Amino acid sequence: MAGFDDGSNKKKLIIGIAAGAVLLAAVAAALFFFVFSTSAKARKQLKIADGYYANENYEEAVNAYKKAIEYKPASEAAYIGLAKTDRALVDAYLEKNDFDQAKACYQDAILNLENGVKNTNSEEIQKSLDEFNRMHAWKAATCTEPKTCVLCGITDGEALGHEWERATMKMPKTCSRCEATEGDPVSCKEIYAKDIITERWERFVFFDNSVVGFIDKVDSFSIYDYDGKLLKEVTPVQGAYSSWSFSLSLQKKIRYNNIAFMTTYFDKNGKGSIILYDQYGEVVKDFDVNQKFSGYLNNETLNERYLYLKATESKGVEFYIDTKTLSIVNKEDMEPVLEFDTNLYSSCERTEINEDLFFVTSADKKSIGFVDKNFNVIAMYADATNFNSNGFALVSKDGKSYDIIDSDFNVIAESYVLADDVWWSGGPVMAAKKGNAAHYYLIK
Ligand SMILES: [Zn+2]
Ligand SMILES: [Zn+2]
Repeated sequence: MAGFDDGSNKKKLIIGIAAGAVLLAAVAAALFFFVFSTSAKARKQLKIADGYYANENYEEAVNAYKKAIEYKPASEAAYIGLAKTDRALVDAYLEKNDFDQAKACYQDAILNLENGVKNTNSEEIQKSLDEFNRMHAWKAATCTEPKTCVLCGITDGEALGHEWERATMKMPKTCSRCEATEGDPVSCKEIYAKDIITERWERFVFFDNSVVGFIDKVDSFSIYDYDGKLLKEVTPVQGAYSSWSFSLSLQKKIRYNNIAFMTTYFDKNGKGSIILYDQYGEVVKDFDVNQKFSGYLNNETLNERYLYLKATESKGVEFYIDTKTLSIVNKEDMEPVLEFDTNLYSSCERTEINEDLFFVTSADKKSIGFVDKNFNVIAMYADATNFNSNGFALVSKDGKSYDIIDSDFNVIAESYVLADDVWWSGGPVMAAKKGNAAHYYLIK
């Protein structure tokens, strides 16, 4: 039994070994067949791909090369063929200005070549990858973007910036290169103070961003924005007083510290305040002063810097205020600010828009206009206003119809306002007198 068993076991073992050998051979054969067949398929696929490429059928060629690589991931020829095809495709898309497709194709090519290098270590593929990395397709700089490679996104230099042309009544500020616009067209609209100052008021003054309304002989001011929203009430007079006065038109004249208006107040003991405010009614400077006098303090601007205050009924009571240093100064210490030849001009004031541009009236008062800092004439008219805070002025050849000009002296609107007289009313507002009525225009 044991012998039989032994024999049986040996037999089994032999059969086992034989079966193993057959299996191994089969696996080897299958493997051989598989490798042989896939490399045959790869070769076939490569041939098909090359055919597509030769016929400039690039989309099909790409698919075919990719299939070839699937069969044989180490096929140098397939990667090189794919790279050539991708290059041809990128060029074709660039030719058609289809930058999105060109970029997608370029990025795909880089990815394929990187895989190729990894899978093959081929110098040829590496060379092709380097070529792709060096390749750029530049799109010229625009107003908002620098010169840019549409493939890899790198930039060179700076954006050009817009070539702005000024706004007109019809067109907003517009770029002459790209036609981008900014803001709104110039508008000139008649405004009514009663629409802004809806409560009690008798008079009003326009500032850049506010309108101050007040009633004569009432000791407070109401400050509104141009939408009619009440911003602040200013009550400069407290209790019993012997004198008070105000000046609300300093903004056009004084150039320093945003000063827009001024009040003075003195009690019966001669203790008083001279207060300078900005256009929102905020105190810029409060001078405490002890001075007994009769009447009230009258004031005038000496030039764009100094205020001169003088008692109406007491001789010798006067103050010189330097609005630049916000101090009370001696007359002798004042610096001359704006000197002009009074033989040539009866008045001269600076414009808001340009430090070196002055608004003048000729000595004979027959012409009015603009000169530079050396008093060279830039433009003179029969009548004109100074520029408003938005850089627009009204000018007239005949003193009857007025054009709107911008700060480059371009006519924005011809004969837009008919009037007997015009003046800059403060901030953005122009005033025009027609008959006995004043009309106010907000130009922006
Ligand atoms: Zn690039
Ligand atoms: Zn532009």
